[in-house]
Amino acid sequence: MDMSTENEIQRLTVLLEEYNYQYYVLDNPSVPDSEYDRIFQQLQTLEKSHPEYLNPNSPTQKVGGLALTKFEQVKHQLPMLSLDNVFSEQALSDFIQRVTDRFDEQTAFCIEPKLDGLAASLIYEKGLLVQAATRGDGKIGEKVTENVKTIANVPLKLRGDNIPALLEVRGEVFMPKAGFNKLNEGLINAGEKPFVNPRNAAAGSLRQLDSKVAASRPLAFYCYGVGVFEGQLANTQFERIQQLKGWGLPISAEIKRLIGKENCQDFFDDMQLKRANLSYEIDGVVYKVDDISLQERLGFVARAPRWATAYKFPAEEAVTVVENVEFQVGRTGAITPVAKLKPVFVGGVTVSNATLHNKDEIQRLGILIGDQVVVRRAGDVIPQVARVLFDKRDPDSTREIVFPMVCPVCQSSVERIEGEATIRCSGGLYCQAQCKQAIKHFASRKALDIDGLGNKIVELLVDHNMIKHPSDLFSLTIDQLSSLPRMGEVSAKKLINSLQISKQTTLARFLYSLGIREVGEATANNLANYYKSIEAVKNAGIEDLKAVADVGEIVAKHVYYFFRQEHNVEVLTKLIDAGIHWPEIKAAEQEKQPLIGQTLVITGSFSSMSRSDIKNALQALGAKVAGSVSKNTDTVVAGEAAGSKLIKAQELGINIMDEAALLTMLEK
Ligand code: NAD
Repeated sequence: MDMSTENEIQRLTVLLEEYNYQYYVLDNPSVPDSEYDRIFQQLQTLEKSHPEYLNPNSPTQKVGGLALTKFEQVKHQLPMLSLDNVFSEQALSDFIQRVTDRFDEQTAFCIEPKLDGLAASLIYEKGLLVQAATRGDGKIGEKVTENVKTIANVPLKLRGDNIPALLEVRGEVFMPKAGFNKLNEGLINAGEKPFVNPRNAAAGSLRQLDSKVAASRPLAFYCYGVGVFEGQLANTQFERIQQLKGWGLPISAEIKRLIGKENCQDFFDDMQLKRANLSYEIDGVVYKVDDISLQERLGFVARAPRWATAYKFPAEEAVTVVENVEFQVGRTGAITPVAKLKPVFVGGVTVSNATLHNKDEIQRLGILIGDQVVVRRAGDVIPQVARVLFDKRDPDSTREIVFPMVCPVCQSSVERIEGEATIRCSGGLYCQAQCKQAIKHFASRKALDIDGLGNKIVELLVDHNMIKHPSDLFSLTIDQLSSLPRMGEVSAKKLINSLQISKQTTLARFLYSLGIREVGEATANNLANYYKSIEAVKNAGIEDLKAVADVGEIVAKHVYYFFRQEHNVEVLTKLIDAGIHWPEIKAAEQEKQPLIGQTLVITGSFSSMSRSDIKNALQALGAKVAGSVSKNTDTVVAGEAAGSKLIKAQELGINIMDEAALLTMLEK
């Protein structure tokens, strides 16, 4: 068609080739994988819609990078391919659907963690390791036999019975997290450049000409497949892996055989939760059709088998620009520098802010406004600036971060407390920022849970001088509220109503809502259960407070001094005068939250409610709802087609509740 498409394809190709060279040949990637994958997908999409421009040498049609000539080259008898990727529940479901449509509903999948290292081929003749090679470009790899022989968990000789006369074992060479951290510490101490991640450390270590260097690197190996062989092997992927294990080859402990979309997705969810606790890095989950004869019927495309796919975790790192740094004032006056980022998709969400914590952290990063940075969001952890791309710094468009001398909101003086890296605004509730945060906290879900009083409205109310303290909320009128922008009379009435409703609360929530420093939900609960009345908490001495579960010196002091400040006591009195009340402790708590202290897991699908509604309902009854089953689980709520979690619960002898029983309990 048009020149521009052709040019664009050309541009993306050149870019990917450059990234490939840095990644595969130099073991030194210049961009995070997410950036590479984004460009790769762009090219793939263009090639799909314009097949006339598809070049057989396109990066989308090739595996890996060329073998380094400094190594002896090895021709693979069977090509070593890459894997297709999916990035969403829907795409995984589509993959499984394609397979089950072609065969049948009960087609089993062998499901394995996707190890983040590099592929290797190990040839055993009569049970002896005779050759090891990297994947290279899939056809030709690098001979790294001596280096692989130094990997502690690679057997030089297989053991057991019925070992095939020739056996090509395929698997991943990787560097466990602990070894990686230690290696990098050593490199930094020696003034050398550390590795960017364990994958590149593994690749750089395996591809060493001096096998003494390789031997000193903490590498490990897990196998996940077989290449060429002479002799008999089982007919399924899962059983083959068990056979390899039987011959003394290391495999991951997480491999499972499962049937059905939901089980496949559950496995992914579980692995995502487990990921941080594994001793090695994984970047997703691999799904393989289990039956080898079905695999053969599905065959291959250019760079990947059709019978497998890798479901990748959302990328944890992405590149973006620090457009500015602002200073935010928190509920307790702490002033935090926050990097304002060009919005970027990372860890499954779009991120446009990242806290820089304090001066020390800014110094450690060496960050300037205008820098390109790698943003990291792992699990539910809040986004962080992981590192600055110093190579890409442009001195003309970067500038230093300057700390304010006064509070950026109320201009009160700023104090720096000795021993603390943080600076604080001294303005207290006079400071509108602190005041807003205090009221937002007061209204938040775990506090008084005031429906309809979102952050935006709190800001408007404070900005319009309608409220200064949480207690002012209760004297707001419909007229006042409906005078606010975008607030009609109906919403105003609703808000007044939910303010009324919120007055009925619990002592624990009320204590939490006051925003006493270091008093979170759990501490508030402990205080409420111990003292049973607000008067008693108010009058408690420091030593006495320390008797409460989880309360140490620091928390005790914060509680004690909070109630010694006149304006706090005044607000407290006003709140109670406004009608905030709670039932007598004990009996009421137990009656309202019969599941307190219990951990439940939900699995399967339900016909009468969605999983998230069930979760909310259970949480409202005090339960903790977890994502995976362990010996700490009290009950598993199992709907239709429940899979691995249900099996695990049965194995552990955990109480199981079906949909009918759940409904009966919720009705009660
Ligand atoms: P891949 O890593 O997406 O998947 C294929 C590989 O997964 C296999 O070769 C094998 O080594 C590995 N693997 C791990 N566990 C496995 C298991 N249980 N079963 C089978 N295989 C398993 O593909 P790739 O071709 O190795 O690399 C492409 C990816 O590398 C890109 O998606 C990108 O993320 C990254 N990359 C990044 C850059 C960069 O500049 N940052 C450059 C090139 C490639």
